[in-house]
Amino acid sequence: MGRKNHPGRSSSRRETRKTKAPRPLPSDGAGFYGTQVTEGPRWTHGEPYLFRLMGAAAATKFYLCPGCNQNIPPGVAHIVAWPKDSGRGAEDRRHWHRHCWDRRH
Ligand SMILES: [Zn+2]
Repeated sequence: MGRKNHPGRSSSRRETRKTKAPRPLPSDGAGFYGTQVTEGPRWTHGEPYLFRLMGAAAATKFYLCPGCNQNIPPGVAHIVAWPKDSGRGAEDRRHWHRHCWDRRH
């Protein structure tokens, strides 16, 4: 849990300049800043899930929360979560109200 894996990133290239080039995200989405691992919702029987907080400024669309089947309107900070090891990884991202995510069990 919380272990940082960077397979294939063995180069010891030094960062001599403070460039803020956006890093390409790995296809499983694990490179999202601040992503954590936790237990998935009850229907996954505790399968490991990755999740992160999406800030209000980043929330620009309506999302359907799988916890309550209600919309999450733009401008509302919420949780983005997806299965770590199964399904289509980051393509299976779901957007949850924070209180729904807290009650997903
Ligand atoms: Zn909800």
